[in-house]
Amino acid sequence: MVKIVIIGSGCAGWTAALYTARANLSPLVLTGGQPGGLLTTTSIVENFPGFPEGVDGYELMTRMQKQAERFGARASFGTVEAADFSRRPFTLTVDGEKVEAQAVIIATGASHKHLGVPGEDLLETKGVTYCATCDGALPVYRNQPLVVVGGGDSACEQALYLTRFGSVIHLMHRRDALRASKIMAERTLSNPKIKPVWDSVVTEVLDVKQDKVTGVKLKNLKTGAESVLNCAGVFIAVGHGPNTEIFKGQIEMDANGYIIPRKGTMTNVPGVFVAGDCADHVYRQAITAAGAGCAAAIDAERFLAAQNQ
Ligand code: NAP
Repeated sequence: MVKIVIIGSGCAGWTAALYTARANLSPLVLTGGQPGGLLTTTSIVENFPGFPEGVDGYELMTRMQKQAERFGARASFGTVEAADFSRRPFTLTVDGEKVEAQAVIIATGASHKHLGVPGEDLLETKGVTYCATCDGALPVYRNQPLVVVGGGDSACEQALYLTRFGSVIHLMHRRDALRASKIMAERTLSNPKIKPVWDSVVTEVLDVKQDKVTGVKLKNLKTGAESVLNCAGVFIAVGHGPNTEIFKGQIEMDANGYIIPRKGTMTNVPGVFVAGDCADHVYRQAITAAGAGCAAAIDAERFLAAQNQ
């Protein structure tokens, strides 16, 4: 039996681990399939306080893990397949094994959204990708035209990163103004290698027959005109959805699957707390996730203390 299990190892998870470890609760962190979470797929994080020159996303997460482990947090590489929150201790099924816990912090984060157009799934890893920092340097993209889809900070970040490798980066957005923060939008639009394609959506990724990306079919939403843009890679950055599927029916969530905390960070189930992007569709920043992880840890610690556990 574990006092507290933290599901997820992003900013929220490791911060919750740091605080619960320092409260002598020996937290067990179940890392999920992507240890370190989404931040490990970004390049330089420029807006995490304390790093005036920026910090590599992977390095930041590794440091957070080390800091929590220094105080007794334990990491276990594993994905939670099922959760039973109907009675305490709660039971989690992790890669077939049962883990019992007096309290749980859900910090499962969010995953990349897909476009849902023909060719996208079949050509994933064959030119369709959701992570420029993971894949952008591959030889297949060098000196080739590339397409980035989206208008937020992630799309801008991916487009800027890809200017190191591609010959030209077509940044395709469904509106005529970026959603990204001003500083990112300005930096992106002033880069001579980035060509915006406004008011347009990808309708198909080509070419499944050749088993690799050769281009995209696109449609201008204002004029209705359809065309083909040749490219060697499509980098999709159209936002994220919460990783909460396994908690459906037990934990209260909104129509989009974001968990709704009831009191502080506690969910509708006493003893189950939530932190980070799986409950936040508004701020979605590394620092707000870390802050929420801290709050969830404090709430969980007080809950356990009140139960004399
Ligand atoms: P986001 O801000 O939600 O932006 C998603 C973009 O994709 C929007 O421009 C949206 O268009 C577009 N989109 C959504 N569905 C689409 C579809 N089906 N087809 C075409 N386009 C679609 O997501 P994000 O860029 O991943 O950022 C998530 C959060 O992380 C944000 O809070 C952001 O500030 C933060 N972040 C920060 C940094 C940084 O500061 N360096 C870096 C990355 C992310 P509309 O604009 O029309 O809605």
